[in-house]
Amino acid sequence: MSESHVESPAENPAPKARTEHVFQAEVEQVLRLVVHSLYSNKEIFLRELLSNASDALDKRRFRALTDPSLAPSGEPGIRLEADASNKTLTLHDDGIGMTHDELVTHLGTIAKSGSRELLEALGRAGEKGDLSLIGQFGVGFYSAFLVADRVEVVSRAAGQSDAWCWASDAKRAFTLEPATREAVGTSVVLHLGADHLDLLRAWKLEELVRRYSDFLPWPIEVRHDGKDGEAPSWKRVNQGRPIWQRAASEVTKEQYVEFYRHVSHAYDEPLAWKHFRVEGSQEFAGLLYVPTQPPFDLFSPEPKHGIRLHVKRVFIMEDCDQLLPRWLRFVRGVVDSEDLPLNVSRELLQDSRLTRVIRKQVTRQVLDALAQLEVERPEDYATFWKTFGPVFKEGLHYEPDQVERLSKLLRYESTAGEGWVSLAAYKARMKEGQKAIYYVLGESRRQIESSPHLEGLRKRGFEVLYMTDSVDAFAVQALSEFDGVPLVSATSAELDLGEGDDAAKEAQGGLAALRERMRVRLEAHVSEVRTSTRLTDSPACLVIPEGGLAPHMERLFRATQQGLPAQKRILEINPGHPLVVALETLTENKSELEGVDEWIDLLFEQALVAEGSPIEDPGRFTRRLTALLTDAATLAARGS
Ligand code: ADP
Ligand code: MG
Repeated sequence: MSESHVESPAENPAPKARTEHVFQAEVEQVLRLVVHSLYSNKEIFLRELLSNASDALDKRRFRALTDPSLAPSGEPGIRLEADASNKTLTLHDDGIGMTHDELVTHLGTIAKSGSRELLEALGRAGEKGDLSLIGQFGVGFYSAFLVADRVEVVSRAAGQSDAWCWASDAKRAFTLEPATREAVGTSVVLHLGADHLDLLRAWKLEELVRRYSDFLPWPIEVRHDGKDGEAPSWKRVNQGRPIWQRAASEVTKEQYVEFYRHVSHAYDEPLAWKHFRVEGSQEFAGLLYVPTQPPFDLFSPEPKHGIRLHVKRVFIMEDCDQLLPRWLRFVRGVVDSEDLPLNVSRELLQDSRLTRVIRKQVTRQVLDALAQLEVERPEDYATFWKTFGPVFKEGLHYEPDQVERLSKLLRYESTAGEGWVSLAAYKARMKEGQKAIYYVLGESRRQIESSPHLEGLRKRGFEVLYMTDSVDAFAVQALSEFDGVPLVSATSAELDLGEGDDAAKEAQGGLAALRERMRVRLEAHVSEVRTSTRLTDSPACLVIPEGGLAPHMERLFRATQQGLPAQKRILEINPGHPLVVALETLTENKSELEGVDEWIDLLFEQALVAEGSPIEDPGRFTRRLTALLTDAATLAARGS
């Protein structure tokens, strides 16, 4: 009875007359894109509108849990009705409905943050005639204008007695005026454009519903005109049983794909999915997807993420981030719990044991799906890795007890050539006598590829992994070993290339005079000068003492954390390099010491340049270099 209760004017200040409202600028832009798009798959409008109707029915059922007076009287559902004489297609639903003000905000603005990103992405996609992004950004309703010249939305909100009609022809404005609607719910009336009159045929509508929306949990009925003056009849079209509650054998690939698009608001194909049921102390069913395309906010500071939560089939909430670790934020899907209370809230989920159990299972199921993808479809796995690897690797840092499982799924580029290598594949092709898995951290492959640090490793035929994502510096710290083999940075002071201990010790004792001279000269910059076993062609390089930071990470930190002291690294020099040998001779003989000091500075600075680090005083560096070049060129000219 509460539906007939009348709000007092103070509670409902909405004017009782026709009003006109200008669309928010972003909406106008979206509408322009929709109306002028060459997007050929215009039928998706139906999926969007059915999805909204289904959401509205979900919301009403949820609200009725605590306020039974909001429950509909008959069996709630969605009805599609074509009217050939008026050329309209109408979708009726028994959902939660919209008030006057909700019509204005929901169908006149884009509430979601990131609407600028949305428009940029839509603009780019629109040029190519691809509007598949529209659902992801929550502007699905406007897709009605793909087929309609004019749209009217007549809605009566739950608990209200009055109804309102929103209408627009997708130009700059929409109108609102009082309307009548017998029961709570929404009717979307599409005045079809001349090219879309095939949508007036009942069989066409049935086909579209089956193709796109078969899994929706609410009955969808299509009206059939009666033949020869008979009364029209309604025919139920969709199966309706929630897809995740069916046995996997009963679900086709197409149905899995369509359901993915429904839950993720995306239009790509999922790369992989996992349909599961957990029984025991906790009972729940789930269906999880790994997308092909990244969501637009994958790397934004506050990405929307999480999965859809149902309790005993009742929809509870979208984007439930408690059920999915942040490093799996690209995963989409649903979980349907038998044990959570129906009135569960985000706060309640926050520190519930049930939440932790579900989250752990969800994580495990995703990892299983990825492990299977890796084995069965390596190319698709590579696609996954390229898109989501940088996010996935955050898991190494956040999930210390999962490192072993995660490490099997890692991929890196390496000195072995193009393409990705797993740690297992690396281990399998390690050279005899190689004691570690080597890697090098850096900003880009190009920058570290020719780094002097790799010379010794290359000469010995040892493969080196390139770690160039910014997450790698943290992630690799959790990865001390793989399958019994330690991971060692090529730039670490601890690098042991497997030479006999004697040879290494002997080498370290060499070049004593030069090393001492360099130590004093470079005291402000390096903590130690020593001879190197990792260099073959270059005269010098800088290595990182235990616990130190890669230089590009140090720069990043220093940029954000004022006053962080500069770290001193260790300078290694190549005892086999003629330049080093000559400098040692000069130092020992105490001749040309002024020149030696200049060259020591240059040696240090070019070690910085070689690894891609900036030098403190580029002007001085180039002057020194020019002086050397001048000497060399003059000498050469004299000899010619
Ligand atoms: P999204 O569904 O992603 O939120 P839409 O553009 O499809 O974006 O819809 C915008 C909003 O309009 C919805 O969030 C909902 O609040 C409201 N809405 C749309 N259709 C209906 C409907 N049939 N019943 C009730 N509310 C609706
Ligand atoms: Mg929608």
